[in-house]
Amino acid sequence: MPPAHPFDDDKLKEECGIFGVVGVTDAANFVALGLHALQHRGQEAGGIVSYHPDHGFNSARRFGYVRDNFTSQKLMETLPGELAIGHVRYSTAGSKGQTQIRDVQPFFGEFSMGGAAIAHNGNITNAEALRRELIERGSIFQSSSDSECIIHLMARSLQRNIPERMEDALRRVEGAFSVVAMTRTKLIGVRDPLGVRPLVLGKIGDGWVLSSETCGLDIIGADYVREIEPGEMVVITAEHGVESIRPFRPQKSRFCIFEHVYFSRPDSIIGDRSVYETRRQIGVELARETPIEADLVCPVPDSGTPAAIGYAHESGIPYGMGIIRNQYMGRTFIEPTEQIRNMGVRLKLNVNRALIKGKRVVLVDDSVVRGTTSRKIKEMILDAGAAEVHFRIASPPTAWPCFYGVDTPQREKLLAATMSEDEMRDHLGVDSLKFISLDGLYRAVGEASGRDAKSPQYCDACFSGEYPVKPSDMVEKGFQMKAAE
Ligand code: SF4
Repeated sequence: MPPAHPFDDDKLKEECGIFGVVGVTDAANFVALGLHALQHRGQEAGGIVSYHPDHGFNSARRFGYVRDNFTSQKLMETLPGELAIGHVRYSTAGSKGQTQIRDVQPFFGEFSMGGAAIAHNGNITNAEALRRELIERGSIFQSSSDSECIIHLMARSLQRNIPERMEDALRRVEGAFSVVAMTRTKLIGVRDPLGVRPLVLGKIGDGWVLSSETCGLDIIGADYVREIEPGEMVVITAEHGVESIRPFRPQKSRFCIFEHVYFSRPDSIIGDRSVYETRRQIGVELARETPIEADLVCPVPDSGTPAAIGYAHESGIPYGMGIIRNQYMGRTFIEPTEQIRNMGVRLKLNVNRALIKGKRVVLVDDSVVRGTTSRKIKEMILDAGAAEVHFRIASPPTAWPCFYGVDTPQREKLLAATMSEDEMRDHLGVDSLKFISLDGLYRAVGEASGRDAKSPQYCDACFSGEYPVKPSDMVEKGFQMKAAE
């Protein structure tokens, strides 16, 4: 599968998007459109399960983009019914880079009271311990996905109906999970007690929709109703609407702050705030915290764009498109020679020489992960005749891996885990390198007094090393958590 983003090898990657519809004819077609809008959350594979009273449960799982698979009339006719859920994935912890079709969600389980399908965004941090326990007690796993644990825990529950079995199962699970699931008549949505990953509710005609982000509602013309709250389970039927249940002990929410910075689409709304506007505000804070004398502010396309607009506005330095992205780099070329292979980034991005030449340039990017792409971009800008290159980064240094459903390199591969800010500047070979502070980022997302150090309002573990849920499987494998201060 080709990368969807020009720097896919040097970015954190969200691992999943989920979507579900009940109460509309040909629900699977709506799910396909919703998944297409959520494709930025996972490009490796996608799946849809539907239910029709005459045809039972049907499913289709495919590698590749939604638009290349779920636009086939022949395939979509195999997914009839007014109830369907779907999933797009990058890859889950169990099978990075070697996904098999059986790892592609939604998963399906047959129980004495009927079937259920389930799709999950996030990561279960005690999945390996649960899997060991379940296998010892006789469960037979079909996939390497952590999400399959939920189906097996449901199978072992003694509750009488599927939503109650799901409650039982999810109480045993630790980590981050937003879930959409379905029975023959019900669409179910759940967010973990901390609400780390997003999930929103929408309305379309007489039907209801669940989506990872509001951009999935927009594409099918559904109205946004509200977010599913942290720790909330909704059980939805076409006849009776939405029933809300609270299966978990209440906790203070810890939504993923990186959704604001990078993962979510800029046209989505999170917590009643436009993601675009938040990113622009991050640029404003960044300009206040890290001023510099320069002639031009350029975004690293596309994710750095709103922050660059905010930086330019606040600093008064002119904004310009100094780097142009080739919009048609959907597929990677067969690169015939070593010389072309080494061009890498140049196939995807080109410098606008006429604009850059002789200028002191501020480049605004959303994050620095390994730093490999930042170095190449700096070289391109200098080759084009820039007088100076200053990097401004719209997130704090990413120094810790994420264990909550985002693909991060091992800690040693994260530039900020092994180098100080000055060392990173020298390593990248730029005139200056500055990151927004954690407090500045919190202010930009609407927390006027910054981060509450005693009880942070968000998950920010990849920056702070303070994990809101202990990643117990990883600790068991030797991961060293940050020592308490
Ligand atoms: S560790 Fe970072 S990317 Fe992962 S959930 Fe927390 S804030 Fe988001």
